[in-house]
Amino acid sequence: MSFIVAIDGPAGVGKGTIANLVAEKFGFLNVDTGAMYRSVTLAMLRQNIGIEEEEKIEKLLSEITIELKEENGEEVVLLNGEDVSEAIRTKEVNAFISGVSALRIVRNKMLEIQRKIAQGQEVVMEGRDIGSTVFPNADVKIYLDATVEERANRRLRQNKEKGIEMSYEEVLESVKKRDLIDSTREVSPLRKADDAILIDCTELSLEQLSNKVYEIIEEKMKK
Ligand code: C5P
Repeated sequence: MSFIVAIDGPAGVGKGTIANLVAEKFGFLNVDTGAMYRSVTLAMLRQNIGIEEEEKIEKLLSEITIELKEENGEEVVLLNGEDVSEAIRTKEVNAFISGVSALRIVRNKMLEIQRKIAQGQEVVMEGRDIGSTVFPNADVKIYLDATVEERANRRLRQNKEKGIEMSYEEVLESVKKRDLIDSTREVSPLRKADDAILIDCTELSLEQLSNKVYEIIEEKMKK
């Protein structure tokens, strides 16, 4: 059986946390599409490829492998077989990623991989364009939002847990900059699909938010 839950929204809103909980509760496959764009960005940084070097990017995209796995409840991201789960979350990657993910050739490749992964599966997929572009017919579409200050605070807490040193101001700037580029790019910009359910989670606890999301999914599964 195929069942697709699309979760979109801006940086730091908590899409990953909710997607993990949904995957666990319903036994769905969890696909973090941001990790895929992050892996491409890391590969380009490592090979010193600029965003204007289309041929080199095309070659890179035809050669790299990106795998998302779960080990002991933790997401593990493999780039060409190497565990890059931490390496994809650095300042350098954050600074370069929105430029990379605005490229049509990168998006086309990611779209192809994402659709393939979900074929015939029960999936929760989170990103920026899942409900609008990757799965316009997703069974459930949720768009999470929160104020930029709240999102920067959430990202700051996550960074601390992961041992990433960044000040609140740095995180706030990085989040704002990414949101601006992600939402104004030409190809598949970050936007709420018309039929997505908008949840503003600025004031919601994780429990309140997850219960809301579970209810929406359960309601749809009954149909
Ligand atoms: O979700 P996360 O913060 O890891 O995403 C990192 C970046 O990847 C985003 O800022 C955006 O530029 C890009 N992205 C995207 N489309 C997606 C998922 C992520 O453009 N579906």
